[in-house]
Amino acid sequence: MISKIILLGPPGAGKGTQAALLARRFGVPHVSTGDMLRNAVREGTELGCQAKTAMEAGLLVSDDIVVGIVRETLARADYARGFVLDGFPRTVAQAERLQGLQTSAPGPFVVLDVKVPDEEIIVRLSSRRVCSACTRTYNLISSPPKREGVCDDCGASLTQRPDDKPETIALRLVVFHKQNDSLLEYYRSQGALCCEVDGTGEVDAVAQRISHLLELEQVR
Ligand code: AMP
Repeated sequence: MISKIILLGPPGAGKGTQAALLARRFGVPHVSTGDMLRNAVREGTELGCQAKTAMEAGLLVSDDIVVGIVRETLARADYARGFVLDGFPRTVAQAERLQGLQTSAPGPFVVLDVKVPDEEIIVRLSSRRVCSACTRTYNLISSPPKREGVCDDCGASLTQRPDDKPETIALRLVVFHKQNDSLLEYYRSQGALCCEVDGTGEVDAVAQRISHLLELEQVR
C-alpha cells in the first residue's frame, strides 16, 4: 500500500506540481516545507524571521526549525492516512529524524527521485515568476501570464523569488547535489522503495511516468 511518498530532486524539478497531483490522487495532504517556510516569512512570524536569511541566500534552514514544523504537521489527524513530502527531507539528518517522528500513516516510504539536468533547472528557475498576492506560479517561457508582469487570476504583480536570482540558483544546485546522493543511499539502506523519474517534458508526461512507476511498485 502506498501512502507515504517522498519527492526528491533539484529545485525547479517540478516536485511541487507532481506532489500536488499525487496528493489528490491518493487523497492525502501535500507537505511542502518550502511553502510553509515562505508563508512564515510572508507573515513575519518568529519562525519566518529565523528562516529568511538562509532561504534568500539559497542555503538550507536549520534541521531543528524544519523538523519542528514537519513534526507539528504530521501529528495532525488528517495526516494519519498518509502524506506526500515535497522538499523534505533534504539531509540524512532530517531523514533520520523523520524516521523517529510519530505518525500512524501505514506502509513504507516510497521515494521518487525526479531527475532534471542542471542546465534545464537554471533556465526553468530564472524564468519562474510568482504572483505577489495569490502565489500562483508562472514560467515566462512555458506558461507566461496573458499580460506581462500581471497575474491572470487576481491581477496582482508578478515577482521573482529572491532565491531564483542566477547566483542563488547556482548555490542551490550545489547544496542539492551535496545532499541528494547520500539521502538516496540512506533510503536504499533502509529498504525504502526508491525510483528514478525523468522530470523533463510536460507536466502530464512526468505524471504518467510516476503513475507507471507506482503501479509497478504496487504489484511487487
Ligand atoms: P523549496 O521551495 O523546496 O525549493 O525551498 C525553498 C527554500 O526553503 C530552500 O532553499 C531552503 O532555504 C528552505 N527549505 C525548504 N525545505 C527545507 C528543508 N527540508 N531543509 C532545509 N531548508 C529547507
